This record gives sequence, C-alpha cells and structure tokens, in this order.
Amino acid sequence: MSVAPNFGRCSRLIELKKVNRFMQVKRIRSKTCDRCKQEHDTLFRIRATQNGDWMFVCKGCIKDVKPNNVHYQYGGTWKSKKRH
Ligand SMILES: [Zn+2]
Repeated sequence: MSVAPNFGRCSRLIELKKVNRFMQVKRIRSKTCDRCKQEHDTLFRIRATQNGDWMFVCKGCIKDVKPNNVHYQYGGTWKSKKRH
C-alpha cells in the first residue's frame, strides 16, 4: 500500500468517521449478555472465572453462575436508561 498524497483531505475523512461512530454508540440502548448472548436493559459486571476477566451478564445468568462459585465477584450494574 502507498501513502495517500493528499493528507489534508484524508484526515478530514477520518474525523467524520469518528463522529459517525460516536453517534452510533450514543444510540445504543441495550447491551448483550456475555453468557446467553441476549440483549438486556440491565446487566451486571461480574468476575466468575479463574482468569479473573470481567464480564457483563444478565440477572438470569447471575443466578446460574453465582452459586458455589469461589471466583464470583460483583463489580457494578450497567443500565441503559440513566436516571437524573
Ligand atoms: Zn444472560
């Protein structure tokens, strides 16, 4: 690949793409559960595995993951609708 000669136009296009991506992110109203892969309005940030990776799971999945899990750790709640 060669470097584009017109640098000014190139960087402006990149800026526009950044703005578009930002707008899309703002519109997301739900998040996908890392376990059942379903979309939910409320997810819980937990650790439930030996490697200690954080994951977002729904209320139903917490009930499956939490019992007798020595690795379980609660790290907060994510909600699509922020209350003011
Ligand atoms: Zn789930």
